[in-house]
Amino acid sequence: SLSDRLGGVFDKLRGRGALKEQDVLDAMREVRIALLEADVALPVVRRFIDQVTEKAVGQNVLRSVTPGQQVVKIVNDALIDMLGGEDVPGLDLEAVPPIVIMMVGLQGSGKTTSTAKIAKLLKEKQGKKVMMASLDVNRPAAQEQLQVLGTQVGVATLPIISGQQPTEIATRAMQAARLQAVDVLLLDTAGRLHVDQQLMDEMKAVAAISTPRETLLVVDSLTGQDAVNVAQSFAGQVDLTGVVLTRMDGDARGGAALSMRAVTGKPIKFAGTGEKMEALEVFHPSRVANRILGMGDIVSMVEKAAEAVKVEDAEALAKRMDQGKFDMNDLRMQLKQMQSMGGLGMLAGMMPGMKKAKAAMQASGMDDRVLLRMDAIIGSMTPKERVNPALLNAKRKIRVAKGSGTQVQDVNKLLKMHMEMSKAMKQIKKMGGLKGLAAMFG
Ligand code: GDP
Ligand code: MG
Repeated sequence: SLSDRLGGVFDKLRGRGALKEQDVLDAMREVRIALLEADVALPVVRRFIDQVTEKAVGQNVLRSVTPGQQVVKIVNDALIDMLGGEDVPGLDLEAVPPIVIMMVGLQGSGKTTSTAKIAKLLKEKQGKKVMMASLDVNRPAAQEQLQVLGTQVGVATLPIISGQQPTEIATRAMQAARLQAVDVLLLDTAGRLHVDQQLMDEMKAVAAISTPRETLLVVDSLTGQDAVNVAQSFAGQVDLTGVVLTRMDGDARGGAALSMRAVTGKPIKFAGTGEKMEALEVFHPSRVANRILGMGDIVSMVEKAAEAVKVEDAEALAKRMDQGKFDMNDLRMQLKQMQSMGGLGMLAGMMPGMKKAKAAMQASGMDDRVLLRMDAIIGSMTPKERVNPALLNAKRKIRVAKGSGTQVQDVNKLLKMHMEMSKAMKQIKKMGGLKGLAAMFG
């Protein structure tokens, strides 16, 4: 497995501290193999490796984990990132009904099945009035197949009139949906064995008639590289809004998901996990990352280690505050903690009624870049100056500003802020430390 391989790479490493470029490159060779084995498309692998290498070099290795484990965590996070992050957007149903969802994809990808699965979900989980229509006039009995599934999940299907063209069916479906006050109309379009121009033209004509709010590309995760090519051709021709990845219950390692997201730039909204109508899941990037890497245990271990370091840091800081001490190192640690909590926006977002404050903060240029800038300023001070900022004379301030790519006035602002916080710390000490403060409010 990848962990054994990475273990080999890092066994020879004893030292801690920052990850060195050569070590990261060695590790990335193994990660590359793991991704290719998981069927991730080669250009996507290349891009991914470049991004992660850049991110990993120079990162500090946490206490109590090995460099290899740290790299696994970095790779895992980058995978989740590339898969679109943890917050997968749901279906966009904010429009005047009937809201149309158009399903596109090759024959056999699981379009019809996914159409019925989504219809069931919308009806049962969101209480929507749903209708389905099959525009597949190519495949024998395709329309009947959707009708059968409709009966099974209790969703109406547009009555079949043989001999009609897809555009005619689409027009009729729109009329029926309006007449029956349907919330969501799902259009199951025809597939082909291969992408061809006729298929694309047909899709565009149907889209022109129905103005779909969502156009979901259905792809079979087992088809690997083919799935990537299919996604590329569809993405170039229609405005996709998302992807449904089917057969995730099979033994595909999930590489298609990574490629799909990278190639289409669109979120994977659902994963099909079986033939049954219930077998549809909201897509979870972390699960897929785990499937690709097979390293869930290491990831959660590193997360715990990072958590422990945060707690230790916070405790150390609290202790110093108790003693009325607060130097630039403490300020820097606090800035780091703010960043790890999601930055200023996150802090503002946590407090009710802070939307305005957040906007004001952004308007005044007080955004997360400020945190980074302050960190850079402290980084340009000497260790002695960090402990005793009073050492910073005019000449040194100019040097520090230069060294951190900021202005002297930024340095002064930081010093003023530190001074005020330091005063507050002394007040806290006078009141009996943090415990005394807590007692006052308790
Ligand atoms: P279409 O040609 O794109 O409409 O594909 P269908 O919806 O007819 O599906 C083709 C076959 O794949 C059917 O036998 C489905 O039951 C099966 N299928 C669809 N989605 C999944 C899935 O997520 N997992 C599994 N195991 N089978 C699926
Ligand atoms: Mg079908």
